[in-house]
Amino acid sequence: MSIEYCETCDEPTGNAGRGDGSVFVERNGKEIGPLCDTCSNDFCCSQCGEIAITLHEGYCEYCCNHNQEELDRYNAEYAHWQRMDDERCDEAIRRGYT
Ligand SMILES: [Zn+2]
Ligand SMILES: [Zn+2]
Repeated sequence: MSIEYCETCDEPTGNAGRGDGSVFVERNGKEIGPLCDTCSNDFCCSQCGEIAITLHEGYCEYCCNHNQEELDRYNAEYAHWQRMDDERCDEAIRRGYT
């Protein structure tokens, strides 16, 4: 069993290669790794705190997709209200509150 060392700090990672828990991340199309636990913390998503294998605007893929869905939903709702004329808008608000 080979000992694997962290690419960043040269400490043993405690893992033994790909498929055995080794952490590899990708930044700007370049693979970085393997990483030890400590160093992999530097590559976490700023939203969920999970290790972000690939980073999308500062977030892991999951959070980035999720944020995009939220944004799409918000925009769709906003456009919906914009399309309503004032009268129908008032009516919808009244209905919403009663
Ligand atoms: Zn390290
Ligand atoms: Zn995330």
